[in-house]
Amino acid sequence: MTPRKPPAAGKKPGRPTSPPTPPADPAPEAAPAPPALEAVLVQDFGQSRELAPELAGAGTAGPGPAIDRTTYRAVNFWTDVYLHSIGVTRQVRFVVVHNTEGSYPTDVQYLCAPNPQHPVSCHYYIRRDGAIFELVDPASAAWHTAVAPENRVPNAALRAVWGTSNENYHSLGIELEAFRDQAKTAEQVAATVALVRWLRTQYPLIGDDRLHLVGHDELSLIKVDPAPWDWDSFMPPVRGARYFPETGQSIVSGFRDFFEANGDVARFGYPLTGEEPDPHYPVTVQYFENCRFEWHPGGFVRLGAVGRLYLQAIGRLP
Ligand SMILES: [Zn+2]
Repeated sequence: MTPRKPPAAGKKPGRPTSPPTPPADPAPEAAPAPPALEAVLVQDFGQSRELAPELAGAGTAGPGPAIDRTTYRAVNFWTDVYLHSIGVTRQVRFVVVHNTEGSYPTDVQYLCAPNPQHPVSCHYYIRRDGAIFELVDPASAAWHTAVAPENRVPNAALRAVWGTSNENYHSLGIELEAFRDQAKTAEQVAATVALVRWLRTQYPLIGDDRLHLVGHDELSLIKVDPAPWDWDSFMPPVRGARYFPETGQSIVSGFRDFFEANGDVARFGYPLTGEEPDPHYPVTVQYFENCRFEWHPGGFVRLGAVGRLYLQAIGRLP
């Protein structure tokens, strides 16, 4: 299948209508060594994972979700530096889904307040309209799910992968805006799917099974959240990431479909990054050894103009 050609975007530089005249410059072997291609791409596009302003509010339009990382920030968490100091090396391996038993904005304000009597926090808060807020950097351990030993659900299979240490050490916590027993909205479910899929591209140790993706009630005997939550319909769209141990990266969703339908590793090489918003253009991108995938508004994949960028970077094109 050939992807549709994207409409001309306002900020995109125009493409030449005819091939440029070959420059009469020195033979390639006389040219200075070009910079590494990845360095060129990093220089041109940066590595920011913040969303391009044009995509703000776009929700799940692309394979990576829009995440607001500035409006709310929690104060209760353990940094990786602190965890190291107590002998813990944080490995993001688990996701715990919760609901707040409250409503916006009161509950997200509570999650960000010091609350010295009962300090809590989580990494992500998803409002009923599907808006995603990051409250704690995933590199730090939020305080969302520590379970007293006497309250642990006696699930041997789960404990075999979680171990018996504090459940916050290696997990990410997602709080959904909902009262106790309140159904989640379709927008919240879609946002949670998109968020977890993207997180699995960033943290490949997060397994795509029900031992690594769990509800709070599956860890603690005294918790009932996030019920109601339909794991059977949640899991299939979350699964589907293809992991490459060669580079430690994964591909998912539309990029995976395009990759596998158009030549796979032999043509594109291995993925070198996860998905990330481009800081200059309203597209989500992922870099491969041989190319750059761009996910354009409207939902189609286009190959980035890496040849043009490369020639510009080494001075052969203006
Ligand atoms: Zn909970």
